Amino acid sequence: MPPPDGPLPPTEVRRPSDDERAGRRVLRNVNVVDVRAGVVRDRQDVLIADGRIQRVGKRLEATESVDLAGRYVMPSLIDLHVHPGVMVGLRMDANGQSPERVEHDLQVWLRYGVTTVQSMGLDRPFVFDSAFSGARLLSVGNGFGVEDGVPPVSMQPPLGPLRITDRAEIRHSLQRLVERGASGVKIWYDDWYRQMPKMATDVARTIIEISRELGLRSQAHVYYVDDAQSLLQAGLDVLAHMPRDRIVDQTFIKAMRASNAVVIPTITVPESNVAYEARPDWLSDPLLERFLPPGAREYLASKELAEAIRAKPEFPELWPDLERAKRNTALLYEAGARVAFGTDSGVSNRIIGFAEHRELEHLVNLGVTPADALRMATLINAEVLGLSDDVGSIEAGRRADLVVLRNNPLESISHTRTIESVWQDGVQVAGAL
Ligand SMILES: [Zn+2]
Repeated sequence: MPPPDGPLPPTEVRRPSDDERAGRRVLRNVNVVDVRAGVVRDRQDVLIADGRIQRVGKRLEATESVDLAGRYVMPSLIDLHVHPGVMVGLRMDANGQSPERVEHDLQVWLRYGVTTVQSMGLDRPFVFDSAFSGARLLSVGNGFGVEDGVPPVSMQPPLGPLRITDRAEIRHSLQRLVERGASGVKIWYDDWYRQMPKMATDVARTIIEISRELGLRSQAHVYYVDDAQSLLQAGLDVLAHMPRDRIVDQTFIKAMRASNAVVIPTITVPESNVAYEARPDWLSDPLLERFLPPGAREYLASKELAEAIRAKPEFPELWPDLERAKRNTALLYEAGARVAFGTDSGVSNRIIGFAEHRELEHLVNLGVTPADALRMATLINAEVLGLSDDVGSIEAGRRADLVVLRNNPLESISHTRTIESVWQDGVQVAGAL
């Protein structure tokens, strides 16, 4: 059974005019989710002008008003680790990334309440020169890998990672990233269960070192706890996945706490690597298929896919990987390390939009409070991206990027799925999911 790739359901995202964006309006009587304080403020008015929140309070006036009595409004979600435009439906086609595909995926994120995403590598240069509708896109460009290593060799420049080792060449490529406005640099530092060569430590250190000098945030795909530790020592800023070859020890926890680095757990990664082997119960969730082609559920529940997973040489490690990723996330969270939010959605059967809500649920199931889970996906992610004055909270001065919910997400994190509308720059751009 080939993975279904079409036809894709329409995203139905609105493109507001400049006039609409410049308008002044008030959202009335809405319960505001204050992610900073971790509380809901009942029956507030949110005054918006020029796409930004002007004030949150009582009895605020504007000629245009929307009554949201009984509803909840939270800042929209930010995902620090995604890949737009490399899957068509459930078919992987990284080399076919195009502006149309990227925009489609960005619109799907928007429908699920995700309005800012960082693409973690595999991007063609056009992403830096294009204005897309949908979620706001930040990108690290190609990313850096190693000859014949992860991600798979079929992805080559201009799409795949740069596999260079020469210091001058590395510096030149990093300078290009800065010029293009990249949100950081991505390194793949992994041997994929000892099946592939890993980037030389010197090369990784060189990339991190020069990135720091140029003011580029360095972010690495890592699997081994020891690798994570050595890259942190070299000055790495972001662990793009939870290391999970073993349970983290006090040395690692201390290293995380001592650095200003963040880790993005991406529990959805080890989960999607193995879960379809056992027909997960969430396959019947209507939100899963909302923007997937016909046959998607059948494909994900198919015996063929289950067998393909079981046939992988790394299969014996995959279920333990999931458990270790959860445990390590819980340990780091409890110890007060900086934990950010991301899913790696858009590749390897990680469903765009659905994965973000699933990740929030994972976090809460392993002991993170709903308020902290939302904080990771809003405030902390905004901080990591250097966009704290711009997004991540419902406060004066921030962009009015909002999600209106039917139910209180602090009461149950699954209520983030009860989306009634999504707002971007103060204008409603999407309706109910
Ligand atoms: Zn990724």
